[in-house]
Amino acid sequence: MHDPLKSINPYTGETLSTYPQLSDEIVNHRLERSDKRFRKWSTTRMEDRVALIVKLGEAIKESKRKLAELATLEMGKPLSQSIAEVEKCAWLCSHYAENARNYLEDQKIDTDADESWVAYEPLGVILGVMPWNFPYWQVMRFAAPTLLAGNTVAVKHASNTTGCVNALADVFERAGFEEGCFEVLIVEGSRVESIIGSEFVKAVSLTGSEKAGASVAAAAGKHLKKTVLELGGSNAFIVLADAELDEAAKIGVKARIQNNGQSCIAAKRFLVEDSVYDDFMERFLEKWEKLKVGDPMETGTDVGPLARLDLAETLDEQMRRSMDQGAKLLRGGNRRGPMFEPTILEGVQPGMAAFDEETFGPLAAFTRIKDAEEAVELNNRSRYGLGASIFTADLERGKRLGRSIRDGAVFFNEMVKSDPRLPFGGTKISGYGRELGSFGIKEFTNVKTYYMV
Ligand code: NAP
Repeated sequence: MHDPLKSINPYTGETLSTYPQLSDEIVNHRLERSDKRFRKWSTTRMEDRVALIVKLGEAIKESKRKLAELATLEMGKPLSQSIAEVEKCAWLCSHYAENARNYLEDQKIDTDADESWVAYEPLGVILGVMPWNFPYWQVMRFAAPTLLAGNTVAVKHASNTTGCVNALADVFERAGFEEGCFEVLIVEGSRVESIIGSEFVKAVSLTGSEKAGASVAAAAGKHLKKTVLELGGSNAFIVLADAELDEAAKIGVKARIQNNGQSCIAAKRFLVEDSVYDDFMERFLEKWEKLKVGDPMETGTDVGPLARLDLAETLDEQMRRSMDQGAKLLRGGNRRGPMFEPTILEGVQPGMAAFDEETFGPLAAFTRIKDAEEAVELNNRSRYGLGASIFTADLERGKRLGRSIRDGAVFFNEMVKSDPRLPFGGTKISGYGRELGSFGIKEFTNVKTYYMV
């Protein structure tokens, strides 16, 4: 018997709902149903799949307010940001509706054959193991392209956002997707390993922590199934002496604080050139101190609670450890339950928790650097490799520096962000494989060679 999953409003502490976990038999039944649906779905015409994705986008927009409120209640992000997340899901649907055909078109290749080409064909039921921090966006960016490629999906969402995935399943149904296309598995993380072993599951996509990623990759390895892993990050936000400092400070605060600081691609390490450090910090503080902390349902709130008490406790412990290791507390540092005061640490160096580990919350770690070369060196010192931002007026130099950055993305004079048109993913312990754009839709396909004489 497994304990039921609970959704708890992190701001009020109130239990919103309790969800019994599915038995192994029901999990197996849902996977089998998804496998059966795959046999039909994979033979449907692309225009029919596209028509459903268009309807899905419309259904998401119709439910915008309801979906957004539920996300804020379950995981605490400010309501305006939940609304933006839902809108982005609708954008994803229209992007793939317009481009899926092109992305998956057969490719002719000249060889000795009369005709040879590559086709992108579906694999079967794909398992998605998803996190709570963008409870709709993460699921949608996995599910929409995977379905369009002709697969079906089974989603195991984070235990604290079961309401969100159930709501999404309702939207899929309303849009006209038949049973089996989008299955929900209400189970805790420890049960994923055995699900990966199911004969019906053909591949797995996980977005989550390093620990969960290693566990999923090991289980998938044992059964020789493909994985895509979107894991944590500790992105550097590099400010060079010639940067437009006010703009950089404005973007920097947003890049750190968005989603209550709980984003894989948030700016976590600020590497600022010594000659402009004080000037930049002054501008950064001016904006940081205006952040409104409080009830995420209230208009105007910039920072709400962390999604769970244990996450706030972990961040607290990382902050204290960094201070024991020599970092200086410049602002914040207080916590009341899951409410974590926006905090700035200075003098952060390799070897300190705030530099070496992912800090998942409103904590900005500052380091003075002597020049651009040191910035690149410190960027690459991280075990993570999701992305980096470089602020500079010299874009040619920026491009040269960018090539030395060993991350999945480099953004110039902008925060790292996801965009349905661009591939998204990491290197090193941030994972492998790509989501979004043309690369994402091909991840769960059989890249099949045809040769005809
Ligand atoms: P998490 O604890 O790893 O959970 C993610 C998902 O994995 C949940 O569904 C969780 O289920 C499941 N899980 C946990 N342990 C597992 C295990 N041993 N085997 C299989 N599945 C397991 O991560 P989180 O706290 O929800 O999310 C935050 C992390 O996700 C951060 O590190 C963040 O950087 C990363 N993230 C990465 C990206 C990206 O695109 N690279 C995007 C967003 C977030 P339960 O909830 O039932 O434990």
